Amino acid sequence: MEPVIETFESRKKHMCVKGEGLSIPVCDKASMPGTVTQRTCVYGGARIVLMPITDSIHLVHGPIGCAACTWDIRGSKSSREDLYKKGCSTDLQEKDIIFGGEKKLFETVLELNRLYHPGAIFVYATCVAGVIGDDIKAVCKKSQEITGCRVIPVQSEGFQDHNKTKGHWIGGDALLDYVIGTSEPEENTPFDINIVGEFNVAGDLWGIKPLLEEMGVNIISTMSGDSHVEEIAQAHRAKLNIVQCQKSSNYVAKKMKKKYGIPFIKVNFFGLEQTIISLREIADFFGDEEMIQRTEKIIQRGLEEVQDEIRDYKERLTGKTVALYVGGNKAWSLVRAFEELGMDVMMSGTKNGIKEDYERIKETVRDGTIIVDDANSTELARLLKKYRPNLLISGAKEKYISLKLGVPFCDFNHDRISAFAGFRGFVSFAKEVDASVSSPVFNLTSTSLYDISNNLNPEKKLKTENSPETILSPPSGGDTHG
Ligand code: SF4
Repeated sequence: MEPVIETFESRKKHMCVKGEGLSIPVCDKASMPGTVTQRTCVYGGARIVLMPITDSIHLVHGPIGCAACTWDIRGSKSSREDLYKKGCSTDLQEKDIIFGGEKKLFETVLELNRLYHPGAIFVYATCVAGVIGDDIKAVCKKSQEITGCRVIPVQSEGFQDHNKTKGHWIGGDALLDYVIGTSEPEENTPFDINIVGEFNVAGDLWGIKPLLEEMGVNIISTMSGDSHVEEIAQAHRAKLNIVQCQKSSNYVAKKMKKKYGIPFIKVNFFGLEQTIISLREIADFFGDEEMIQRTEKIIQRGLEEVQDEIRDYKERLTGKTVALYVGGNKAWSLVRAFEELGMDVMMSGTKNGIKEDYERIKETVRDGTIIVDDANSTELARLLKKYRPNLLISGAKEKYISLKLGVPFCDFNHDRISAFAGFRGFVSFAKEVDASVSSPVFNLTSTSLYDISNNLNPEKKLKTENSPETILSPPSGGDTHG
């Protein structure tokens, strides 16, 4: 069978086509040494889960680089303060590596508490803190006793695993061990819920929350978009957890079910069909007749509001192809939304997918769809060159690979600026996708810069004995962790 693209022998099984050969790609393995992987580390995984807690300080215990390259990585919006946006690090240096960084950490926590009086201080362990053996838990405990502020250790040393998913779990553990269940709500209602795995990227939460509130649901907390730590502390009183990002947050929902008996349902507010299914499932869970009726009215109104607005976009987008190279959850949860715009998902891939993610992708996409695991920059460029989708959906690191190949690009990662969730979000989604796909600038790039570059400089097409033909590596985008 013809390989999906030319690549190293050990990488070939990380790609497959649904309906042919491999059932799902080989996944959840350490990246191949020497390739420019697009992955982040365990610490980055923990930080993206917790950073949207807006009233807290996020203190990175390590050299400045760990904090710098993850500062403001989440485009999570806040309706209240912006304390979470401060970039805080203990900035460990040579002296600290030799004599230990605990004293510096302790003094930093005290100073941050004095300056900002935060709801909590999350202290993230990095590789260096782990290697020198600083006892972060002990420092957090002591500084909490002195300050009275919640000081929460996050044991997220980056080297713990090749997959940042472990970081998501560690971030979840910090909430489960130190926050959830430590405070009581002033009152309880029969319809209390938590929204788990919604990080309010670009304001997505604000497309979902009004719908739920109109249904009659009471939201105790969101984990963790636009949240306060005190709200999360009361999350154990919810009657239901709804899980939006099932990649990062199934773990927390399962643990809360075990510890507090809170059931959970998986929801997806990207796309009209999925939004409607999710709202109905929540209403059905509570079984309240009035809520069910209110939900149907909300759905009817939502559909009426958007259908006219998306008609033109849909007309232009029908028949166009899209490649997804995104987080594990979005690699399947966006598929139906594109289909609603008449588009055809011809590739879906992730950087850190685990077996369950790829099973879910396989269930969702049609036969013939390429499924890719941990594609490096060169592989991604080759996939785009060979299959020429009308659009790539990905993040900052892939943006310039795509644009330089003349492939329209749309950001659906941490740093996008338009909210896409719920009914109104779907209109923004359609508008943004159409703006990329239908942009006339791409008519001017029928021959990509790569083709031009290779034709003009054939000597730059390198060949080595052990590697497949190497094209000029496209430069990576930003160095943000994604
Ligand atoms: S791998 Fe280690 S050193 Fe690098 S950013 Fe992650 S925690 Fe910091």
